[in-house]
Amino acid sequence: MDYKITVIPGDGIGPEIIRETRKVLDALGARYGHNFSYTEVLMGGVSIDAHGVPLTDEALSTAKDSDAVLLGAVGGNVGTSNWYSLPPNLRPEAGLLKIRKGLNLFANIRPAVLFEELKGACPLKDEIIGDGFDFVVMRELTGGLYFGDRWTKEVDGLRTAKDTLLYNEEEIVRIARQAFEIARKRRKKVCSVDKANVLDSSRLWRQVTEEVAKDYPDVELSHMLVDNCAMQIVRDPSQFDVILTENMFGDILSDEASMVTGSIGMLASASLGKTKLGLYEPSHGSAPDIAGQNKANPIATILSSAMMLRYSFDLDMEANVLESAIKEVLKKGYRTIDIMSPGKTLVGTDKMGDLIVAEI
Ligand code: NAD
Repeated sequence: MDYKITVIPGDGIGPEIIRETRKVLDALGARYGHNFSYTEVLMGGVSIDAHGVPLTDEALSTAKDSDAVLLGAVGGNVGTSNWYSLPPNLRPEAGLLKIRKGLNLFANIRPAVLFEELKGACPLKDEIIGDGFDFVVMRELTGGLYFGDRWTKEVDGLRTAKDTLLYNEEEIVRIARQAFEIARKRRKKVCSVDKANVLDSSRLWRQVTEEVAKDYPDVELSHMLVDNCAMQIVRDPSQFDVILTENMFGDILSDEASMVTGSIGMLASASLGKTKLGLYEPSHGSAPDIAGQNKANPIATILSSAMMLRYSFDLDMEANVLESAIKEVLKKGYRTIDIMSPGKTLVGTDKMGDLIVAEI
């Protein structure tokens, strides 16, 4: 099969980690008879330098016309780069907002996987880690408190501020469906997280999620209050498969979930909409402090490409092969500097890519 991928290397370490990811995808394509064709577009600081804006309309329409978008990272050193003297809508990160909006992406998925070989980086105790854990947080991206009406004004002589948390049933249905679909490709469990003991929006969330669940009898649905969920992630993370939640709860829980896995260089992410076209990128930024030094860990981006294979292309077997190849390289003791520990073999960005290709 042929797959059209829009590739956005971006700034900082972006080009290095994307180069390694393409190398790995090509190796998988050659082995399993798929043709991945890439169209590179500019976004972030490099686009500002070339075109004066962080993402051109042409670049966005290239992305819209593809089967998936693979992104490195955008942004520079916030303290020293000229990009940050521009108005906010022209800064590198504005490109991210524009592409997410332009592609109608409303669900963000961040996996929290503890790799056996990197247990040392996990801040949890051994008895809690047990045999490890592997869950994803699916966060609603375009509604809720961050997008509701808000104001700050003086009321009865007191400075007062108000934010609004609003969801309609359509917004809940579409993300709930995504969560159940993703669960079907995993261990078939969805835990919907809300604050239904207090919030009306949460009570609607719970009700609508129950209704959607009727179409997925093979997937087990449970509900959990957000405060309890925050505790359970550090008490017994292995109980979770897919955590489904609204924007602000997801913002907080997904950061907590990434923290319990250890290294930032290992954290993948995907943003999905109603169609198969998704945006795949590492959770980390452009790491300007190590850019161009062959030090960046490419694994977060390579793991994001495994999500692309699974969710945009339905190539589940190939995604599994890729994830196993990464585990094998780690098992053999190879590490980039961010995950290095005594007794292991330190390798650079390019060598890590080569080692994963060799396992494939
Ligand atoms: P960062 O994630 O880029 O870096 C934080 C620290 O982690 C740095 O020490 C860096 O060297 C290290 N690090 C990050 N990724 C790594 C990897 N793959 N391998 C090894 N080490 C890695 O966060 P920051 O320094 O706060 O931000 C730098 C720039 O990235 C800023 O301009 C910021 O706005 C931007 N940013 C972009 C995105 C994105 O493109 N989605 C996300 C976050 C931050």
